[in-house]
Amino acid sequence: MSRIGFYPGSFDPTTNGHLDIIKRSANLVDHLVLGIGVHHGKKGLLSVDEKIALLNEVCNEVRQSTGMTITVETFDNLAVDAAKKAGASVIIRGLRDATDFDYEVQMGQMNAAMMPKIETIFLAASPSTRMIASSLVKQIAKMGGDISSFVPAQAMKMVQAALNNNS
Ligand code: ADP
Repeated sequence: MSRIGFYPGSFDPTTNGHLDIIKRSANLVDHLVLGIGVHHGKKGLLSVDEKIALLNEVCNEVRQSTGMTITVETFDNLAVDAAKKAGASVIIRGLRDATDFDYEVQMGQMNAAMMPKIETIFLAASPSTRMIASSLVKQIAKMGGDISSFVPAQAMKMVQAALNNNS
């Protein structure tokens, strides 16, 4: 039986931190569904279509090197409901620091109360990508900084194009 994982997030933009979690998920699941949370009234830097295209593109190398299949979906409901719809038995989340820990464990426990059959698995961020956050990446790029060590090349191009369009 193949094991399906659901990794939800904003992915605005996809960073090397997200990619680290995606790659390591291949040790745990056969198929990974990346769920882009779409919240009405909360506009990100990248459009939903851009986020989907970016995730699909950066995951090609992971698909090839790991054999794990990966699909990208959007959801505007509870993550547990989206995970159930995807057929997932596990939700995967990344932990960078104590702030992530407090928030993620609380959310994981509330999700478990709502959907006991779906376990949340927390992966500790890898040392080389632990400091990366999408929000900081966007702030650095807005102020003209170099984000090339924090995001895949495709994300860098997309972020720069989106910032140029917004200005
Ligand atoms: P959110 O809006 O929920 O913070 P993100 O796209 O920022 O969505 O993150 C989705 C998930 O990826 C969360 O579990 C978050 O902790 C994890 N994550 C984000 N950045 C990193 C990173 N650098 N290393 C490991 N996990 C990360």
